[in-house]
Amino acid sequence: EVTSQQLKMILHTIAYKMDSEKEHLSDLDRELGDGDHGITMSLGWRAIKEALADMPENTDCGLLCKTAGMTFLNAVGSSVGPLYATAFMRAGAAVKEKMALSEEDLLSFWTAFVEGIIERGKAAVGDKTMVDVWAPALESLREGYRHGKDVHASFRDAVSAGRAGMIATAEMVSRKGRSSRLGNRSLSHQDPGAVSAYLILSVFADMLESID
Ligand code: ADP
Ligand code: MG
Ligand code: MG
Repeated sequence: EVTSQQLKMILHTIAYKMDSEKEHLSDLDRELGDGDHGITMSLGWRAIKEALADMPENTDCGLLCKTAGMTFLNAVGSSVGPLYATAFMRAGAAVKEKMALSEEDLLSFWTAFVEGIIERGKAAVGDKTMVDVWAPALESLREGYRHGKDVHASFRDAVSAGRAGMIATAEMVSRKGRSSRLGNRSLSHQDPGAVSAYLILSVFADMLESID
């Protein structure tokens, strides 16, 4: 079980991670895009951290996520703004009014989060985006649950699947977003949004492991 306070702490930790990886993410985006991905993610997540820090301790998980989504959208101008905003809005609706997330709620949360990104951005696996991390990670998570695996083992599998997807983006030609203009020149660089997606997921899984 993850209480709303623990969820807040997890999101804080992701915000710190985005800040510490800022240069790395912008370097990746400099190869494929306009070089702002690190700035974008660290600003957006810092805004989330600050907005949630101001919310009372008895705020439910749904409202925390909804606030995170609206905050991210307002803080971020680039293409990831509406993607993660939609993800958080959907995830918030999936865990509406819950003060804690059960194992089943965690699956509902991630399902809504990832489906939100896919519906909003319309990218498919192989397009060289964050979806190359999120889609296989969710698939793997669902598989773990379906087979009655331990929740931590399921998340570890999801992280591995996401990592494989992130690495695979280096062999893809971009078909979505700014980098799609590069055509074959987008080959041999990992997609920055895939890397940040992997970081988000892996911090989440690590934090989950440390909670119980
Ligand atoms: P911008 O391209 O506006 O500067 P960012 O640099 O913050 O935005 O983010 C770029 C990342 O956004 C890409 O690396 C890619 O992973 C992701 N992205 C772009 N378009 C889409 C989309 N339609 N669906 C999913 N992810 C996308
Ligand atoms: Mg960019
Ligand atoms: Mg930009």
